[in-house]
Amino acid sequence: MTGSQNQQVRDLDKKLKRVGVISDIHGNYHALEAVLAELEKEGVDQIVCCGDVVGYGARPNECVEKLRSMEIPTIAGNHDHAALLLTDISNFNEIARQAVLWTKKVLTEENMEFLRELPLTLRDTANDVFYVHASPKEPGEWNYILTMGEARMNFNYFNEQICFIGHSHQPFIIENDEGNLACPTRPEIEIHEGRRYLINVGSVGQPRDHNWRACYVICDFEERKLEIKRCEYDLAACQAAINAADLPRELAERLSHGM
Ligand code: ZN
Repeated sequence: MTGSQNQQVRDLDKKLKRVGVISDIHGNYHALEAVLAELEKEGVDQIVCCGDVVGYGARPNECVEKLRSMEIPTIAGNHDHAALLLTDISNFNEIARQAVLWTKKVLTEENMEFLRELPLTLRDTANDVFYVHASPKEPGEWNYILTMGEARMNFNYFNEQICFIGHSHQPFIIENDEGNLACPTRPEIEIHEGRRYLINVGSVGQPRDHNWRACYVICDFEERKLEIKRCEYDLAACQAAINAADLPRELAERLSHGM
């Protein structure tokens, strides 16, 4: 476990019609604004953020302040902890490390305090959903779920029907039908009674699936449907902000390629 003061599970308990799930914003305020506008149009009655609010992008304070002002339940990601030096960054690559140190320098005290208080997991008892940034098995270890074997093991570490994660910046849907795992490639699925789901909601601010558009998920609890969605944002303005800041230029470049 890393050193955050607030490792415990936090609970949500309001019955919802539709939830919008976002993750890995990474200081990309332009993408966050675009996704929030889409979610407003879609009429979700709750938004939840699976962590990594900061790191890489040029506007970390604005991203934190937006989540704070909208009271969006948010969990901690490894980059949020890294910016507070709550996690070891020796395994970060040079560009990620430079971005962490830049983010730490520009974050306001108040916003750092917000990040420090984020829980590692959220449990939504009313809608039977669990939220964690990296993996249910060891939320504070930031392990990636990259194989079906890792996914299978992680189904043992949450009790809810659906678990939403982020972290890899690559969206996926894994459906568990009494031990038979399937990975549908279509972006929209039905949620079946008796089946369980592990959903990676992708990244709002730095997609890495060769698609530059911001990624997010809408889950409709009444219609029992879930969809991975994409939306365009002002990429050029976002890249200009990165280039104007004292951040590695590669961070702007990679956004064009969704990598
Ligand atoms: Zn991330």
